[in-house]
Amino acid sequence: FTPVHRSFAEQAGRRPDRALFELPDGRKITYRETADTVARIAARLVADGVTPGDRVAMQVDKSPEAIALYLATLRIGGVFLPLNTAYTGAEMEYFIGDARPRVLVCSPERQADHAHRAGPDLVVETLGTKGDGTLLESEARHDEAVDAAADDPAAILYTSGTTGRSKGAVLTHGNLASNCAALLEAWQFTDRDRLIHALPIFHVHGLFVAANMVLASGASMYYLPKFDADTVVDLLPRATVLMGVPTFYTRLVKHERLTPQACASMRLFVSGSAPLLASDHAAFEARTGHAILERYGMTETGMNTTNPYEGGPRKPGTVGEPLPGTEIRVVDAESGEPLPDGEVGSIEVRGPNVFSGYWQMPEKTAAEFRADGFFITGDLGRVDEDGYLCIVGRGKDLVISGGYNIYPKEIEELLDAHPAVLESAVIGVPHPDFGETVVAVVVPAGGQEPTEAELLRSVAGDLARFKHPRAVRIVDALPRNVMGKVQKAELRKRYQDLFA
Ligand code: ATP
Ligand code: MG
Repeated sequence: FTPVHRSFAEQAGRRPDRALFELPDGRKITYRETADTVARIAARLVADGVTPGDRVAMQVDKSPEAIALYLATLRIGGVFLPLNTAYTGAEMEYFIGDARPRVLVCSPERQADHAHRAGPDLVVETLGTKGDGTLLESEARHDEAVDAAADDPAAILYTSGTTGRSKGAVLTHGNLASNCAALLEAWQFTDRDRLIHALPIFHVHGLFVAANMVLASGASMYYLPKFDADTVVDLLPRATVLMGVPTFYTRLVKHERLTPQACASMRLFVSGSAPLLASDHAAFEARTGHAILERYGMTETGMNTTNPYEGGPRKPGTVGEPLPGTEIRVVDAESGEPLPDGEVGSIEVRGPNVFSGYWQMPEKTAAEFRADGFFITGDLGRVDEDGYLCIVGRGKDLVISGGYNIYPKEIEELLDAHPAVLESAVIGVPHPDFGETVVAVVVPAGGQEPTEAELLRSVAGDLARFKHPRAVRIVDALPRNVMGKVQKAELRKRYQDLFA
């Protein structure tokens, strides 16, 4: 077992002059330079009093030094805790109070907001996007790495908070290293790859999938502050892999310069973090000749399943098969009994990628694991005739109307297939007779003005009566977070009084 920071150090020794980061201004930062920054930050953290097991929290804009901070934290046995840059006042209060970090690294502009937190137990450091800030003030180096065991904690990552308050998932060195190795193998990712990195680094996708794979393999990345379709299209001819959330692809397919020629050097487009629209999958393939590879993962588990890189079709609407070493099963939510293929049930996962538990929530942790070690993901799905997993939604989004289970995805797929519809979200809202009833929230396709009656008519023929939406609401856009996840809780709130 080789922890990620050691794999990085090995790569830095092997190819010191290789560009690890290429920035939008053309600047390149090599493996050697990054290793030097890691050594300096590690010295600073040690001087701040970080000892193994201490949390190092970071809330900064994306920079190469932020990745060095991550590696430095792991090297000295600290527990890395990246926070969404959008969090402010009360949210930060919660995360800092919950995680009790030894060091908080914030952007120089926010230093004043956090100054009051500094004290005997917490050091506030700053890190800007230009290598500025207190964290890099001194030249001292710390080159020793602690001997991390596979089950030592490496990071606490907070979940996206889609279904409730974010929970801190404690991930071990073994979790990160094993998932990274499984992905490198599954996607044949090597030091020859040049990844377009346009994801945030406070989330599993951008940090533990994208960045870890580059760091551990000795590859290079075009490291962008955020997703911008023009910039990404310009980089495609020099890159080999893009990892994105579905909204990247929704925007790319509309881009006039997205052509097979532009993608000539690309070998892989990955999508995850939220469901990819089947129409985007088809449109992207028509425009580029590339079938987007969709995979499934979560903060607590890293990546669980993937469509095949080769040796089988990449099927839209599915998330493929378990990664090597990971087991997936679909069970009856109540009894925990495995269900036959084709039946919808609770998705559970077991493997070296599965986290050790929620930070300081032993009861919640115990409630989400089965006795045999399977983690209850909270997602619902079924296994199709090829053994591919299909996610039908989250358990919490299931609509129960008059005692019947209704899976929103079934209705969403029918609505999405209507030519006047771009996308849709189906939710349950309180109803005096049925407990809950179905409401469809629909975004029209460009220039289209579908009516409620027309949409209802188009899906009615394919749905049992109890699944018929009782109302359709036409909106300009669905509420989404930065990872492109539709915020159904917000929609439920918006329409909670429709029938009440
Ligand atoms: P919270 O747990 O706080 O409610 P969250 O579950 O959105 O937030 P994440 O860990 O970022 O936080 O997201 C994991 C979830 O994202 C999965 O459980 C699943 O519902 C969804 N997801 C990830 N990849 C896919 C995919 N390819 N298709 C459909 N859903 C996906
Ligand atoms: Mg979750």
